[in-house]
This record gives sequence, C-alpha cells and structure tokens, in this order.
Amino acid sequence: MKIIDLLNTGKITISMEVFPPKTSTAFDSVEKAVRGIAALHPTFVSCTYGAGGGTSEYTVKITKEVLDMGVPAMAHLTCISSDRDTIEQQIDRIREAGIENILALRGDIPQGFDVHAPHRFQHAIQLIHEIHALYPEACIGGACYPEKHPEAASKEEDILHIREKVDAGCNFLTTQMFFDNSIYYNYLYRLREAGVMVPVLAGIMPVTTRRQMERSIQLSGCIIPARFKAMVDMFGGNPGAMKQAGIIYATEQIVDLISNGIRHIHLYTMNKPEIAEAILRNISAITGIPAGSSD
Ligand code: FAD
Repeated sequence: MKIIDLLNTGKITISMEVFPPKTSTAFDSVEKAVRGIAALHPTFVSCTYGAGGGTSEYTVKITKEVLDMGVPAMAHLTCISSDRDTIEQQIDRIREAGIENILALRGDIPQGFDVHAPHRFQHAIQLIHEIHALYPEACIGGACYPEKHPEAASKEEDILHIREKVDAGCNFLTTQMFFDNSIYYNYLYRLREAGVMVPVLAGIMPVTTRRQMERSIQLSGCIIPARFKAMVDMFGGNPGAMKQAGIIYATEQIVDLISNGIRHIHLYTMNKPEIAEAILRNISAITGIPAGSSD
C-alpha cells in the first residue's frame, strides 16, 4: 500500500517510526518491540536506516516483517555515506521485498567526510532522482525541518530546497520533532506560501526520560519550551512520573494539532510499544483509530 494513498483518504493518520538493531545480538529484542508496535495497527510503520547506530542491513528485514503483519510500511534510505552501487543494491532489495514506500534522506555527514568525492550523492534530491529512475512506482517521502535544517543558511533557503525535493517527486514530507506546535503551524504556512502542497506529517517525539530529552536536543537542536523544561526539571528524577508526564505532553500536542485541522501525525516511538499504545489509547475517540494491544 502506498503511503500517499493512505494520506489522501481524508482520514486522520497516525504513523510510527521504529529503528533497527545495532548488533545481531539485539535483533530479537528489537524485533519484539517492532512487532508490538505493528500490532497496534498504526496507519504505517517506518524503519530508520543507520540512524542512531542502527545497522542498515536490518532496515529492509524489519520493514518486511511489518509488511508481513499486514501493516503498511516504509524503509528509510540515506545516501551520503554510500556509493552508487550500494544505493542501487539497496533500492533493488527494497523493491524485491515488496516495500512500496521509501523515505529518501541524505543522512548526517560523518566527521572528516569528503562530500565532494566522486560518485557520491550530496543531497536527498539526488537520491529521489535515483529512486525514480530505478523504481518509478515507489512512493517517496522526504524529511523537513520546522526549525530549519542546522546546515541551512536561512529558513528561506531551506524551504527552497524542500520545494526542489517535492518538484523532483517527493510525495509527502515528515517533520523533524518539535515541542511547540506554533513552530509547526508557522512552518506549514511558509511551506504552503512557497508552493509546497504535499502532506506534511507532524513528527511527535514522546519524551519519557531526562536522558532522552538531552539526546533529542543534541541530535535535533530543537527549541525546548519553558513548559516542557519545567516538566523535565520536576519529574526527570522520577521515572514513573516522567513517563506519565511525557505521554501526557505528547498527547496534548497531538490533540492540539488535530484540533487545528492537522490530519497526519508521525510518532517517534523509540521502539517503545507501551508508550505508543498509551498515546493511541488517549486519542482513540478523537482519531477514530482503535487502540490495539501491543502484547
Ligand atoms: P537534504 O534534503 O539533502 O538537506 C540537507 C541540507 O542541505 C539542508 O540544509 C538543505 O537545506 C540543504 N540542501 C538540500 N538540497 C540542496 C541542494 N540541492 N543544494 C544545496 N543545499 C541543499 N538520518 C539517518 O541517518 N537515518 C534515518 O533513517 C533518518 N530518518 C530521518 C527521518 C526524518 C523524518 C527526519 C526529519 C530526519 C531523519 N534523519 C535520518 C536525519 C537526516 O538524515 C539528517 O537530518 C540529514 O542531515 C539531512 O537529511 P535530508 O534528507 O533532510 O537532507
């Protein structure tokens, strides 16, 4: 099932991101978590590629497992650290596994990396062109950044490149996490003004530990609202309270988004089925999506 068709039904969608194991020994526990998340029957599950140390070889395997559970799925693919042959092989593997959706990403630039080396893809748009050439039926997603990509010189320039990705055939966009919805509303307005009319999935990260908050800021550089910081200051030392508060904060963000007409929510699950389940349960009457069980 193509994600763009799921997004175009007019219904509210809740999709969920998982990540593959870092090592083969971690495969079983990650597989269990992913199966728990797929059992919740989100609109689709997306599986990262090499992000956070996850091993890229497992992305297709995990995505295929989700598909085999009857849940639409998307494989992420990054291009900056790979040569053309590796990218072609990955696209072939994705197509052969019956995966119809690919999130086309550049990936973060590794330290000391020569981005101008021959045969290298330098931006996601080149990967989008490559997917189009090798797998024209694929539905392609792209990443976008409500607070601007850290490397972009300006918000305007960043949006210009997003527009180029969409013109190149990116069917929908998923945002980086944000903790203040006004940042998303403002960004969506600017995207529409720039002629970017594809669905823009709102990326919500339930933060349920103090360490997760610190890591999220470090990785994304996103703004932490005072209300959010106060929550972590108050509950960060109490795991049970922090978990509950984090679920409530993410739930409130989603309720506000849906109240303001946003239909597509993407949950960064951090491979925690119980947290995804709690959020889904909190909003089941609002979304009309039954809260399944992750057990
Ligand atoms: P690009 O679209 O190439 O943009 C990167 C920068 O280059 C931006 O500043 C942009 O303004 C600029 N730019 C774009 N095109 C051009 C151009 N033609 N000329 C000049 N400048 C240009 N990382 C992983 O490693 N694995 C994952 O699975 C993963 N999943 C992600 C999922 C989501 C939803 C998001 C938001 C991010 C994800 N990332 C992942 C992180 C992502 O790889 C990094 O943020 C990376 O630094 C940028 O990737 P991109 O695809 O947005 O790059």
